[in-house]
Amino acid sequence: MSEITEKDKELFVKILDRDKRTLHFLWDCAEGRVVTAGSSLFENVKGDPLDFLRDSGLIDEQYLPAFSVFTARLEEGILSGIDRNSLSVELKIKFTPDGDFAMGGFYAHFLRDENNRITAVHGTIRPYSQKEMFDRNILTTFSSDKDPQIFGKEVGDMMARHPDDEIAFIQFDIERFKMINENYGVEAGDELLAFINDSLSMICNEDQPFCRLTADVFMMVTAYSSDEELLDLIHRLESMLTGFKGMEYRLIFGVAIAEDRTLHTRRHGDNATIARQSIKGNALNNISFFNGRMRTELKKKQTIEDDMKSALLGNQFVMFLQPKFSISTGRIIGAEALARWIHPEKGMISPAEFVPVFEQNGFILKLDQFIWESACKKIRDWIDRGIQPVPISVNISREYVRTFDVVGWLTKLIQKYDIPIKYLELEITESVDAEGVVDVVKNMKSAGFTMLMDDFGSGYSSLNMLKTTQFDVLKIDRAFLSEFMESSRGRKIISHTISMSQDIGLDIIAEGVETQEQAQFLSHCGCDAAQGFYYSKPVTQEEFDRKLLAVNT
Ligand code: C2E
Ligand code: MG
Ligand code: MG
Repeated sequence: MSEITEKDKELFVKILDRDKRTLHFLWDCAEGRVVTAGSSLFENVKGDPLDFLRDSGLIDEQYLPAFSVFTARLEEGILSGIDRNSLSVELKIKFTPDGDFAMGGFYAHFLRDENNRITAVHGTIRPYSQKEMFDRNILTTFSSDKDPQIFGKEVGDMMARHPDDEIAFIQFDIERFKMINENYGVEAGDELLAFINDSLSMICNEDQPFCRLTADVFMMVTAYSSDEELLDLIHRLESMLTGFKGMEYRLIFGVAIAEDRTLHTRRHGDNATIARQSIKGNALNNISFFNGRMRTELKKKQTIEDDMKSALLGNQFVMFLQPKFSISTGRIIGAEALARWIHPEKGMISPAEFVPVFEQNGFILKLDQFIWESACKKIRDWIDRGIQPVPISVNISREYVRTFDVVGWLTKLIQKYDIPIKYLELEITESVDAEGVVDVVKNMKSAGFTMLMDDFGSGYSSLNMLKTTQFDVLKIDRAFLSEFMESSRGRKIISHTISMSQDIGLDIIAEGVETQEQAQFLSHCGCDAAQGFYYSKPVTQEEFDRKLLAVNT
């Protein structure tokens, strides 16, 4: 096609202005060109008006990838004579000579001959009226863009048209969308959502119903014939919809394949939601396919949530203690408080099952407050009975350290039970978001608590944490110990970790010590404190007392 001159663009804008800012054109399919356009504009351009628009710089460039998909569909429709009589799309386009982009619509109506073949396209481009803008803003900002019932019907109809194809429900949201609003402003957040919505309206064909479900959650349903085709579609969506205006965000996809066609479409949508939510916080993966196991997991999580409050009231949570030993003397030098849930029907539930759920729903603070108090009571009990106490370390979860006054709470407990502060130690896991933890640890230390860095060697920023925070004790993680013990290189790393921590004045303890060989190796490297099944599992308080009396006296 010929060059687009500045004059052409001006002309285009002028036509819009003159014809009440609406451009009509008639595109003759046989001739492959515009025959009338309210002016000779497209005669000048001599070619496809869509190419003109695309190449003119009149469309906001963020919309171009999706617009290309739209024009390809339009052309394909013209060539293949699609069933529908019209297509419409929302665009950001320049409607005024001074060049601000505004929201508008592009509508195409097909004219057909007696054999139902498309012979011409009547196109209209115009900016939205104020009322349309208003309606649209209300819709995109506060509710779904499509009535869910209409969407459900569209999906049902589409599935009926594809009895033999596979059908996928693709749902996605913007990870940490709240952060977008915080970092770039609420308007930018709205604009991003509108962009995704508009792009979907261009990308999805009439056989791919889509809908905005809630704030930042979108769903599209599509027929497909091979896994590659489906993955390819998801990757294309991802690349077209990310990077809007240079913002940094990630899309998270949950996909449910409608294997059982007798199920209600809503159920497939729910499955896609479950798959999407299963990804939360997974840094490596952003596409998840639904499987039956996820539903079981979710059920489990829901029963845990249903039961937890009554469990606390009904004293189903108990504090177990796992002794810490001196490898050289064999004496008990401390204990870690670990929560156990004794469920009346299900028996003992492991913290691995309920702690992550409680961390998500906030209940972990209630549980921890209970454990902290149990630990203080236990120390008081030893003192009252004339037993020489050992320090008990309690776990502090990262979830609340920045929002809840842990130090204040613990200080009150220490006063309430009138125990020396040296007997209550605090374990915090090293973490990726170390920044907030640095200050918290500082506060706890200056209040007089002994701080243990839990699970050292399991995470991302161990060395960084060592540099910036003021822990007293480093706890070597169980997996770090067992995996690194396997090779001579690994053993060197453990050995140097131990001497390095001693060099910077940190005490060290190894957790998850399961064999005599591990204990001997640690001792050889200069680490004398150990906690693990080789010495003892976590036990009830009564049993701990028996061990304490047997070993330490
Ligand atoms: P953690 O704080 O690192 O606790 C050590 C875990 O390792 C405990 O698992 C303990 O039973 C286990 N363990 C100790 N020695 C060995 C060993 O030799 N071999 C093996 N295989 N495991 C060993 P547990 O009690 O299941 O707790 C798991 C995690 O749940 C804890 O890891 C902690 O992060 C969390 N947790 C447990 N109780 C509480 C609690 O009251 N509050 C909070 N916030 N978290 C808790
Ligand atoms: Mg711990
Ligand atoms: Mg640990």
